Amino acid sequence: MTNTKGTAVITGASTGIGAIYADRLAAEGYDLLLVARSADKLDGVAERVRASSGRKVDVFPADLANAVDLAKVEDLLKVNPDITLLVNNAGLGGTLTLVNSDIEQMTAMIALNVTALTRLTYAIVPRFILRGAGTIVNVGSIVAINPEALNGVYGGTKAFVLGFSQNLRHELKGTGVNVQVVLPGATATDFWAIAGRPVELLPSAIVMSGEDLVDAALVGLERGEFATIPSLQDGSLFDAYETARRAMMGRLSSSTPAGRYRTAA
Ligand code: NAP
Repeated sequence: MTNTKGTAVITGASTGIGAIYADRLAAEGYDLLLVARSADKLDGVAERVRASSGRKVDVFPADLANAVDLAKVEDLLKVNPDITLLVNNAGLGGTLTLVNSDIEQMTAMIALNVTALTRLTYAIVPRFILRGAGTIVNVGSIVAINPEALNGVYGGTKAFVLGFSQNLRHELKGTGVNVQVVLPGATATDFWAIAGRPVELLPSAIVMSGEDLVDAALVGLERGEFATIPSLQDGSLFDAYETARRAMMGRLSSSTPAGRYRTAA
């Protein structure tokens, strides 16, 4: 099909938020490369999206928490000249406290939420810089701002996604490469059941549909917004948070300890 916007790579596209990104981005004119572990579910999404959009949709089943599989996806990103958009969406959550969590599961969460997202970004950014164009969408979470809400390792991984994206945007300024970080609040997907708390147990007033979440995130992307928090009704709160952060920036290092830490003579 002609008039393509290039190829969008979407990780975690077999279900949930990633599968909705697949629908929406194909409708916008992207060809797709969909990545997740479940080959059958990926095939189902690909078939549906091809039928609805007529776009080219490829699938690449891979466990992104596995270094060998991850390297294969990195290689694809490094050689495919058609890729114009990377949606780093695959992620795992947790709801248990530190003492009740299994360290191996926490380590696997870090591998997926942090290591895979970082390595895939590194694989594509040099090509985007050379071309002077390209977009990276990192799916974070509101727990980046509210790590007390769920499992602490999950909150930590998503704080990484926010911080990494902030620096990426800073470093890529003027290169033509665009970075967006999306911070969903509670969203009605399988995420919650997998994380140990079915979404039905949450108050419905705080749960957004995946469709509304992705549509709002794409409005933010279209507007060139950096941090998009679809569920935050009063956007000025995030602006104030960012203003406070920026106010500290030039003052965080000093040769002398602050007055409040001086011992009495
Ligand atoms: P989901 O429905 O559970 O989807 C997660 C996706 O990631 C699936 O496609 C899953 O596919 C894939 N995935 C999981 N482990 C993987 C692995 N090791 N390798 C490759 N793919 C893997 O959850 P979701 O809500 O759509 O989550 C998407 C993103 O949104 C995550 O980063 C999550 O942290 C974030 N988020 C979600 C919420 C929420 O309330 N739902 C809130 C804030 C942020 P396979 O199982 O087939 O691999």
